[in-house]
Parts: sequence; C-alpha cells; structure tokens
Amino acid sequence: MDSERLFDAVRTQSGDTEFYLPLPSGYQLGSTKFVVVFGTVMSGLGKGIFSSSLAKCLQDKGLTVAPIKLEGYLNIDSGTLNPFRHGEVFVLDDGTETDMDLGTYERALNLNLTRLNFATSGQIYRRVLERERTGGYLGRDVQMIPHVTGEIKNRLRELALASKADVVFVEIGGTVGDVENAHYIEAMRQLAFEEGQRSVCFVALTFILEPSILGEQKSKAAQLGIRRLLECGVQPHIIACRAQTPVTRKVREKIALFSNVAPERVFSMHDCESVYLIPELLRGAGYDKAVMEWLELESKVEETVEREAREEWLNYLNQRRSANREVRVGITGKYTSVRDAYASILKALEHAGTYLGCKVDVDWVDTSELTDAKAAETLKDIHAIIVPGAFGTRGADGKIACLKCARTTGLPALGICYGFQMAVIEFARNVCGMEDANSTEIDNECRYPVINLLPEQKKIEGLGGTMRLGGQDIVVKEGTLAQRMFGSRARMRFRHRYEVDPRYIPQLEFGGMVFAGRSPRAEIMNLLELPATMHPYYVGTQAHPELTSRPLDPNPLFVGLVHAALRRKYGTDQVASLVFPRERSDADDDESSAGSSSPQSVSRA
Ligand code: GLN
Repeated sequence: MDSERLFDAVRTQSGDTEFYLPLPSGYQLGSTKFVVVFGTVMSGLGKGIFSSSLAKCLQDKGLTVAPIKLEGYLNIDSGTLNPFRHGEVFVLDDGTETDMDLGTYERALNLNLTRLNFATSGQIYRRVLERERTGGYLGRDVQMIPHVTGEIKNRLRELALASKADVVFVEIGGTVGDVENAHYIEAMRQLAFEEGQRSVCFVALTFILEPSILGEQKSKAAQLGIRRLLECGVQPHIIACRAQTPVTRKVREKIALFSNVAPERVFSMHDCESVYLIPELLRGAGYDKAVMEWLELESKVEETVEREAREEWLNYLNQRRSANREVRVGITGKYTSVRDAYASILKALEHAGTYLGCKVDVDWVDTSELTDAKAAETLKDIHAIIVPGAFGTRGADGKIACLKCARTTGLPALGICYGFQMAVIEFARNVCGMEDANSTEIDNECRYPVINLLPEQKKIEGLGGTMRLGGQDIVVKEGTLAQRMFGSRARMRFRHRYEVDPRYIPQLEFGGMVFAGRSPRAEIMNLLELPATMHPYYVGTQAHPELTSRPLDPNPLFVGLVHAALRRKYGTDQVASLVFPRERSDADDDESSAGSSSPQSVSRA
C-alpha cells in the first residue's frame, strides 16, 4: 500500500477521514529510524539492560541515539510509587521522577535524559483527555485507535525532533499479552507502516526454558510469546533469546521456523557475569550488525569512533576485573530486603570501586531495631557506611545510632538526603547539646527542629511531583574537601521536602560541622563534612549523588567513601592518597589542554 498517498489525504485533515495523524511541526515521516524492543513470555528478563546495551552498541558507532521507555501504568510519573514494589524512583536533571530503567540508560549511554525520554499511559491519556476538553478532536468520538495510539506515536516523534537522533530506541514496558501495554503495541504496528519500509526495527526479547528435570532447552514458551506478538500485527525482525546458557542452534532454528525470522537474526542472550559485558556480547553475536543492516544505516558507521569507544569500555572492564582489594560497605535502610530500591547506590559504589581498583561488598543493615549499643556491634566488621534517602519515621533512631557510632569511631560515612538530615540531627543532639533536636518530618513538636520543611513546601498540598526536584547547582566552599571533589561549583539532583533550618546553622558550625556546599540563591545546605582533624571521612549531601554517577565518571562522594574504607581496612600507609577524578582530569587537561565534560561538575569554568 502506498503510505505516501494515504498521508497526503490525512494531511489535509478534512475532518471526515478515519485517519488521525498528529505530527509535531517540522517532523518528516521516514526521517528517523526506530528500534522497538518488546518483552515476551515473562517480565524480569532485563529488557532495559538489553535495550540500553544495544543502544550503546549503536552509539559507539557514532550514531546519535535517544531512548524512551513507555510505561503501562496510569500514574503520571513514578514519584508516588513504593520502591519496595517497583525499585528506586530515578530523578532526571529536569526533575522528572521516573522508573529505575532510566538510570540504566543514563549510565549505559552517558547521557542526561529528560521528560521526553519517559512516558506513562497516565501521561498519554491525560493529553488525550485535555485535548478532548479543548475541542481538539473536531466533533469525533475519542477512541483508543486512532487517538490514543496517535498520541503515543506523537510522543516518539517529539523525542525524535528534539533529540535529532539517528535512532530512537523504544522500550515497551511489560510483556506482550498484557492489557496494560496493548495500546503501545498497536501504536508500534501503525508506526512501522507510517514511517515506511526499513524505518522501524522490531526486536522481541524472549525466554528459553531449561527445566532441570529435562536438562535441555525448550522453545515452546518463546514460540507462543512471539506468536502473540504476530497476532498483534507485529512481525519481529530480530529475536533475542534470554537463557541461562548459550541458546543452541537447534532451538534458534526452531524459533526462526515459527516466527518468519531468518535464523541468522535469532540470537542467544545468555546470562553473563556482569551487565557491563553485555554490549560486547551483543557485538560478538552480531546484534548491532543485524540492526544496522535492517535499518540500512551501515554507511553511517564511523570506524575510528567505534574503535575508540570500544577501547575505552574494554579498559573499564579490565580495570573492574583486575580489582585486587575488597571492602565492605554497610547500607542502612528500611528497604534492605529489596536491592532494586537502592539500584543507583549499588552502581555508584561499583563505579567508585573500579576507579580505585577494589571490589565493594555490600552489607545490609536493618535499622528498625537498632540502639546505640547494638550499632557498634553490628558495624564492627564494616569499613564504611551509607545512610541512604528515606521518607517517614521508621528506622530513624537506628540510623542516628549508626551515624553516632561512625562519627565517634572514625568509621567512614556518607549520608544521602535523609541520611544527611540524620547526620545533622545526631550532631545537634550529641555535639551541640540540643538534646531534643529532630526533623519535623519525624516530630513536629520537637524543641530544636534542625531539619524543617523548605519554605516553599509549606504551601503545597498535592503529593505527585511537588518536592524540590531535579538538578540544581551547588556553590562549594573554598578550602573544603568538597572543593577538591567538585571545584567551585557542583551540580547534583534533588528530591526532598525538608532541609537544614537556617536558624541552627551558626550553632552547628560552632560545634565543628562544615557546610561545604549551598544553593546559589537560597540558604539551602547541600553538602556537609567534618574537618580532617575530627574525622577521616564524614560527609553528607542533601542531594542524590548516586543518580549522576557513571561508569567512566564516578561520583566523587562515593570515591571518597570507598577510598576511606580502603584506608580503614588496609591502613593509611598501604593505600595511596586519593586523586579525585576531577583532579586527575584537570591534570590531563593541563597536559593536553583539552576540555572534558562531566555530569558531576558542569560549571567548571
Ligand atoms: N524525607 C526527606 C525529605 O523529604 C528526605 C527525602 C529523601 O531522602 N529523598 O526531605
């Protein structure tokens, strides 16, 4: 069918056509390539990791890629989701609260993403309903097809326009067959037709069972999953078979036979020791080549760019592999049973460990029942602690007990957001003599509310998207440890309602606490540290430093913590003094007089 002619008719939008094609102004059909990843058989196959690794392979070839995750749920964003059920809430620089997969994309692609890279059914429906209320549908009844699906395609094209990407990577949340994502799948079918031949590459991620009682790989579930996709009118071009062990040729051929996909485009994607190895696994198997061929992008490959990108990545992997020391870091928190709730912290520790040539083991410290006496016992074999972000009151006393123990015994500590606030409370109580110091989040009646609501938060009533959110600049105080880490200005991401009450700053500073970073415009304390004379490494931040840590650009607050942990374990004289990533790249810059950009400190000029 001639889609060009069809669209000429639609473009006139005469009102009595069945078609509905909202295109962002300036968008040219067929000008962008799309890769769409679907999950079949079951969830939890690591679709985000797979998609981001595949996107990385293309990015490494010199292409501009822009990922988008389409979430099935009706929430407008992930801000109100419980990390127990859904994993951490990831915050983008523009303040969008998203699913943790966006963190996976940012880390893999070393990109700062925006609200354009994340859509939920809630956002799509909201737009459709708002348009209906303003008479945007010209008297028509508003339907799933073509209006909701039209809005979905519109979102992808807006991203394509804004990012000027060569390839937009679309990850469909959920599994084929869910009610929640049926509208997305239908929209993708339409997208392929509208954008024209070789503009859209459909990739199905499926699962190969290997029951131990049989001892062989079985492909039936995968076949049925793909058939389900075919029933939706989507013919996959590439099939990725998740499995524990490499998928046999026989199984891949069987899948090819039942799915109209050439056997050379049915690939194995078996377990590997680390997610960082996946890009190389994909390249080795030829996934990237298959996508490039399908989309006719081969002429765009820049071989030197690819060689350099791969070398850089392989160096990182080698450094990871050759780590020859080990430290144990305790994370105190109420979601200790759900590792996903702290996904970015775990990653940030890994990045810092790799930078310093050591492996970081994590111990989960449940603070719900912890007292001062028990804290010392619990932390005795740990080389550093992190007190992470949290909401509410549960476990607060236990966290304060851990921080007290760390402060008084020289145990390295990093307080993040809520953890930073707990460090201020502990210091106020035990050093500055404000016995009844607290956060008004915990005790509204306390005598010294050292942690109090941000002034602008006092007027807010709704829950979603109302915190102080997103990337903010931080002015760093001269002569502090933070200045060595960041220079005179840092940028980190925030998600909070409470802050250090400025009334108590003089008393806290008198006690010895150093507020090493503040907001440029308001009196918001962003970084704290204790001077080297008081503690080897006792640092806190109101921000979430874990969100901007990247494999090749670790966040210095974690680097500092892991370095201090190494010194605690192996002794100061056995661990070389620390050169922060920024100090290292400054030295490189001096040599080569080349600039470098980093998500940690944006305004280094
Ligand atoms: N509950 C605290 C606040 O709202 C801390 C938030 C956090 O740790 N993300 O300020």
